[in-house]
Amino acid sequence: MRVPLVDLAAQHDEIAEEVDAGLREVFRTTAFVGGPAVSQFEEEYARQIGARFCVGVANGTDALELALRAVGVTAGGEVVLPVNTFIATAEAVSRIGAIPVLVDVDDEHLLIDPEQVERALTVRTQAIVPVHLFGQVAPMDQLAAVAASAGIPIVEDAAQAQGARQAGRSAGTLGRAAATSFYPGKNLGAAGDAGAVTTSDPEVADRVRVLAAHGSRTKYEHEVIGMNSRLDTVQAVVLRAKLKRLPEWNERRRAAADRYAELLSPLPHVRLPKTVPGNEDVWHLYVVRVPDRDRVLAALHADGIVAGIHYPVPLHRTRAYAELGAGPFPVAERAARGMLSLPLYPHLEEAQQEFVAAQLEAALRTSPLVGADR
Ligand SMILES: *Cc1c(COP(=O)(O)O)cnc(C)c1O
Repeated sequence: MRVPLVDLAAQHDEIAEEVDAGLREVFRTTAFVGGPAVSQFEEEYARQIGARFCVGVANGTDALELALRAVGVTAGGEVVLPVNTFIATAEAVSRIGAIPVLVDVDDEHLLIDPEQVERALTVRTQAIVPVHLFGQVAPMDQLAAVAASAGIPIVEDAAQAQGARQAGRSAGTLGRAAATSFYPGKNLGAAGDAGAVTTSDPEVADRVRVLAAHGSRTKYEHEVIGMNSRLDTVQAVVLRAKLKRLPEWNERRRAAADRYAELLSPLPHVRLPKTVPGNEDVWHLYVVRVPDRDRVLAALHADGIVAGIHYPVPLHRTRAYAELGAGPFPVAERAARGMLSLPLYPHLEEAQQEFVAAQLEAALRTSPLVGADR
């Protein structure tokens, strides 16, 4: 049996006819840039999450950069973000010429720790970027309190959390602005690169639109130095079809996560992921922590199970960000040694999950190190 980390072919099978019809229309009308599917998707996505505005852009990293610039982040400013995230969160800050200020995560959920955010604030702090990691929303109430008392905007990194909610409110509507990515493997994924900024602030939405369109709202009138970051019409066609299925696909992810919890809770050496009370988790990734992780991962790969690590190196330990001289971050560093992302996607089958659980148990049973690193 083979178990991939994600199964995009199964997703595409469900939407193939709709996408074919939509693409024929794009090519018939040659509306490759800014075709009607783009604004239709923007409206549908905004409505589905409950934001006033959605601006489609080229990818999630651009979305972060644009959202940060739109809320006022400038060169030399500081932006606080968690150390356990995909590097794009920090790159977006660096591309503005601003400085990423890294903070550790909480051991229970691996989400940004609000107390450390508070301690990291300085007179130069211009934004806080919580990452809704692995499919659940960061602790927004505490972060909002910290941000409000310091008068600093929050920009959510919602790339892993399409459809996730906290106390009934959706990721992407909980800060001044939010960035999301529709990279193919995300919960809502395009057939290539795509992303979006969401906000309910008309000024922020307007600034993002202008910055993403070469700093102009009228052709050849350039108000600011912007960039070219557009949501491709072809990608919008795919995203519209998948957006309709997103609630059901997230439901299937939740069922698979529940099933993993049943299968794995009897295993004493596997630390299961936890959802914060009040959070509706969309399980972008199912991340357990195990001893002797590298050997366990290799054993699973040998069995045809494509598990992963998100992320093997905390940002301050990457060569790119070594110069920050940040750290130590004991929680993230320890987590990086134990984290293991098990295959989880909407079309994952029960038999595949049982196979994953059985092979994980076997790998741990034969590990010479088990028990030593806990
Ligand atoms: C995927 C991802 C991004 C970047 O998205 P791209 O579309 O690949 O640029 C940013 N932050 C997080 C947490 C992500 O998972």
